[in-house]
Amino acid sequence: MLKLKKTNLILLLLLLLISYRWFLNKPSHYVSAELDDPPSSIQELYSVTKDTDPIYIIVFIGDGMGAEHRKAAQWVNVGFDGYLNMDSLPIHGWSQTASSNALITDSAAGATAIATGIRTNNGMIAMSPELVALKTVLEYAQERGLATGLVSTVQISHATPAAFASHVSSRTMMNEIALQLLENHVNVLLGGGEDEFLPYGSYGCFPEPGERLDGRNLLDEAGAIGYTTICTPEQLTALNTGETFNLIGLFGDEAMQRPYRPNLAEMTSTAIDVLKNDPQGFFLMVEGGQIDWASHNNDSLNAIQDTIDFDEAVSVGIDFVNSQPHATLIVTADHETGGMSLHLSSTGDSSEEGPFFSKEGIPFFVNWGTTGHTAANVPITALGEGGYLLDTTVPNTQIFWALTWQIFPKNYLPVLMK
Ligand SMILES: [Zn+2]
Repeated sequence: MLKLKKTNLILLLLLLLISYRWFLNKPSHYVSAELDDPPSSIQELYSVTKDTDPIYIIVFIGDGMGAEHRKAAQWVNVGFDGYLNMDSLPIHGWSQTASSNALITDSAAGATAIATGIRTNNGMIAMSPELVALKTVLEYAQERGLATGLVSTVQISHATPAAFASHVSSRTMMNEIALQLLENHVNVLLGGGEDEFLPYGSYGCFPEPGERLDGRNLLDEAGAIGYTTICTPEQLTALNTGETFNLIGLFGDEAMQRPYRPNLAEMTSTAIDVLKNDPQGFFLMVEGGQIDWASHNNDSLNAIQDTIDFDEAVSVGIDFVNSQPHATLIVTADHETGGMSLHLSSTGDSSEEGPFFSKEGIPFFVNWGTTGHTAANVPITALGEGGYLLDTTVPNTQIFWALTWQIFPKNYLPVLMK
């Protein structure tokens, strides 16, 4: 802990008071990223004439997926000379992931930075450290008339999806997050987390009872306002996507269990098929949520397999975006987990696993440096106009601008540039 001198402490308190008053003086409930300095190259992006064509924005977040996770998945799936789908994208950069109160971020602050363009404290979901709600890219997309969707292999009320469509002071408030996801009318929610949608003690499709303490059955409520609700891979396959506009598919009590059924690519494909019914376009976030969990457990096999699964989902997104004139697709992570490193021979370290084998049959070993998150910059790869804001080393907040610039109306430019 840093020892502060008394005068420094007083200065710090004064600064906090001033910034708190600054937030109080804002006219809107929301604090938006336009209050910060936007990247200057937004101006160049805006100089391109836009028309009324639909806009498609997809962000893939591999939770905890660092460069070495991608390398291990590449070796296993396509070999030392091959390219993952996500690595074959034309734009490459790096994201610096620190949060506002820590050198090393957690998933809540990491996702908030990507979703809102503003850094916050670890644990907070689309709220500033002063507890002011921060408007998200998903909410801007809704204002512009775009359909919206969130897909994950963990609970859909978990930190990463939560930061795109809910505002709470703590990621642990998963009952409240589930309610806000529904109240904010996200069109497509696919993942785990049935228990957060059902009242305490009542049973749905999976073995464990619901956990909501307010007695509400959010799945019944969703059905009453026009959502199709499903809980099996067969129902997902049988869905008439051309006539489905609002969909909640929860495929587990909490996180989805391996092998994921449906898998992330299947969920991504269905999400796109439903969302593209909106003639104005859509915003979609897809999370490989358990890359992080496997890495916390130093479980190389599942960390690698989940990264390969995630890459298959990315290829579904690329196939769709490639046929669209106005689209941005971004693949990144909120942070690296585990300090993963790859070695060709065994070191005998107790945190080492292997041998694993590259596609060519070459053995390698995985070493883990920690069971926590690390400070490593994480790769960004991208396709489409907005991606060019990310072709270097950028703060994670810059990803928000790459996702969002297209959906701001043109007359928004003066606000952006002030
Ligand atoms: Zn994370």
